[in-house]
Amino acid sequence: MEMKRIFVHTYGCQMNVHDSEKIVALMENSGYEIVDDEKKADLIIINTCSIREKAAQKVYSQLGRLRKLKEKKPELIIGVGGCLAQQWGAKFIEKAPYLNLVFGTHNICHLPEFIKMIEKTGMPQVKTEFHESVKSLGILPRSKNGKVSSYVTIMQGCNNFCSYCVVPYVRGQEESRKFCDIVDEVKTLAASGIREVTLLGQNVNSYCGTNGIVHDFTDLVQEIGTISGIERIRFTTSHPKDLSDKLINCFSAVDILCEHIHLPVQSGSDRILKMMNRCYTFADYYEKVDKLRTVCPDISITSDIIVGFPGETDTDFQATIDMMGKIRFDSSFSFKYSEREGTAAAELKDKVSECIKRDRLRIVQDLQDRHTIERNRAMIGNKEEILVEGISKNSHKDLTGRTRTNKVVNFEGNYELIGKTVSVMIIDAYLHSLRGELTKEEVAKCLLR
Ligand code: SF4
Repeated sequence: MEMKRIFVHTYGCQMNVHDSEKIVALMENSGYEIVDDEKKADLIIINTCSIREKAAQKVYSQLGRLRKLKEKKPELIIGVGGCLAQQWGAKFIEKAPYLNLVFGTHNICHLPEFIKMIEKTGMPQVKTEFHESVKSLGILPRSKNGKVSSYVTIMQGCNNFCSYCVVPYVRGQEESRKFCDIVDEVKTLAASGIREVTLLGQNVNSYCGTNGIVHDFTDLVQEIGTISGIERIRFTTSHPKDLSDKLINCFSAVDILCEHIHLPVQSGSDRILKMMNRCYTFADYYEKVDKLRTVCPDISITSDIIVGFPGETDTDFQATIDMMGKIRFDSSFSFKYSEREGTAAAELKDKVSECIKRDRLRIVQDLQDRHTIERNRAMIGNKEEILVEGISKNSHKDLTGRTRTNKVVNFEGNYELIGKTVSVMIIDAYLHSLRGELTKEEVAKCLLR
């Protein structure tokens, strides 16, 4: 029987990228193969994100394009999954009647059954109910040959209800995977050649898994730190209020925990943080940053910043600018506030005009660029440990990899180094990457290999 083909469009965060890997693994087990050209596909899945307005807009334009493809190939099955599918449900089919499937965040594991049902009946399916236990947490994507890094989902959902965010509504309540299942998955990844794992969850710090006894996130990091073959652990995302001293101390106690943390601050104004329901003040946040830098002086700290939250005055915005000057993030993602239907912030009056939001965003991004360059330049002359991920996109002569602090470094080297950890001297610094060269010791080692 001829194999069917699947193509997946992914929008949004690392959680979604990993969910798409799970979707592909499920459909491969049902006789599909992945293709890199949607025109060749029998099944196209759009895995959506509703956190940012831009991602949602892209999905709508994508759907418009796919309608033309469906007109030429009526047997093509098109499905929409992810957060936006969870939020919109049947409304998606009203807007795009040629869609065959809308499936929510708790229903990924049933995808093969949904597809069979569509093939049998020709009827569109809408599956957005929440389940008590999210089975997709345990789907293991097939490990790809030559890959050195892998995501591992440890929990999903969120109980925090930040006033601007839809995640608690579209991903549901927090659910942690079993401690032993995660440890087993990481051991399997290590055996398949994976050297670096990134532990994923909407709020990894509140991980609470059982294994006879209850384990917190720190226990998990410490346990993974003992798995032979794994050289690096990363995690994302952390909520500042749940960042414990115990976890901060892991940055010195667990050798393979990389010196990088993504710690979204969102605003420097306590008044705005309160309206956002973030449950910390800037002083609380700063105290954690201070502890992190005391325990681990070279740690790189990245963040998320929202400008133009309803009611944000010039004084509030200035507090954000002052905060950035005090902390000097290695990099940050910054966004204009955009309303999300159903969230508490959508009810707030005193909206900030688009024009002011745009100006504030530009000021934040310009300042961040200056800080990023400053932090990157400070690394010139350092010897850094690089896990080599592959060939640079910019030059086939260059290899590319990341420092433990999560900075991209390009350097000349033999392709045989891909997948290995090497020592590189940083010789130049730019906004988005660093330039390096293999250290003399590393070149000598290469000659002996
Ligand atoms: S912590 Fe806040 S911003 Fe993050 S996913 Fe939960 S509700 Fe959304």
